[in-house]
Amino acid sequence: MQNSDSSEVLPYSEQHYFSSYDHFGIHEEMLKDETRTLSYRNAIYQNSHMFRGKVVLDVGCGTGILSMFAARAGAKHVIGVDMSSIIDMAKKLVERNGLSDKITLLKGKMEEVVLPFDKVDIIISEWMGYFLLYESMLDTVLVARDKYLADGGLIFPDKATIHIAGIEDGEYKEEKIGFWSDVYGFDFSPIQEVVLAEPLVDTVDMKAVVTDPCQVLELDLYTVQKTDLEFTQTFELQARRNDFVHAVIAWFDIEFSKCHKPIRFSTGPHARYTHWKQTVFYLRETLTMKVGEKITGTLVNKPNKQNPRDLDIHIAYEFSPEDEPARAAAEQCDYRMC
Ligand code: SAH
Repeated sequence: MQNSDSSEVLPYSEQHYFSSYDHFGIHEEMLKDETRTLSYRNAIYQNSHMFRGKVVLDVGCGTGILSMFAARAGAKHVIGVDMSSIIDMAKKLVERNGLSDKITLLKGKMEEVVLPFDKVDIIISEWMGYFLLYESMLDTVLVARDKYLADGGLIFPDKATIHIAGIEDGEYKEEKIGFWSDVYGFDFSPIQEVVLAEPLVDTVDMKAVVTDPCQVLELDLYTVQKTDLEFTQTFELQARRNDFVHAVIAWFDIEFSKCHKPIRFSTGPHARYTHWKQTVFYLRETLTMKVGEKITGTLVNKPNKQNPRDLDIHIAYEFSPEDEPARAAAEQCDYRMC
């Protein structure tokens, strides 16, 4: 079993990342997110025939909730791994719920711990961050997959997609960005560039969505490689009505496709609230769009060179309405999620 001594050699950004999971507050937020937690519970309980007698690995077990679902579903043994000190509490919770003989919890980095089994039948993990990939915990799941998943083993969940759409958000954009152009009589506009570069994580009303959605990424967890998480994708956003477009939003969908009856959830504006909300990328320009017109562009996502848990996202687009060139616009926008 590993101990937490290795945290002393972790870079500061990594220490900061893991310590953010020490406190129960963040786990409370995740556990209370019923879309999230009930999707996992349904995927596991409704498919107990797949879990019965199996060895299960829970990557980043936190409070141990997913490990306990798997144990209750009849797994032969569950191993939960977490680097954060929340795992000390998870051990108490597992004991309190009478599952100590079924669940082994290991404190340490998934990439470094030594599991008591050479191979596991099923990997379960809740690795998703804002914009799906922020915090890059998926890398860790892929390391666990390549090292431990038996041939023909299962991954829960196993599919993820990212979608984008254009929204009308004039009022809030003015509050967040416009605000800096006159602060008590002073020009604070240099701050505007900084604010624009930081995507906002917030809930977006479905009524604000002006364009059709467009998928920009699809991941199959059985085959995806770390290098696929750096990607460039073209997109096309077609207006559903006459309106203004102030921002592009992104969200992700998750699927447990190997379930007897596939289980899915969406973090989009059309779906129930989740703690991931949506991610808003404000554009400098306001586009004046007519129904049927299209914005075409490219989205580039790269883990940041200095801190790979941060994302550098680039959105380039062109809008060229044929009837009124005066409404045309084109921009190159760089964002950093940190
Ligand atoms: N599975 C829990 C917690 C999910 S949050 C639940 O569903 O409620 C993700 C957890 O993964 C955090 O507790 C974090 O500390 C842990 N984690 C992230 N990267 C890890 C790594 N490389 N090694 C070990 N634990 C990791």
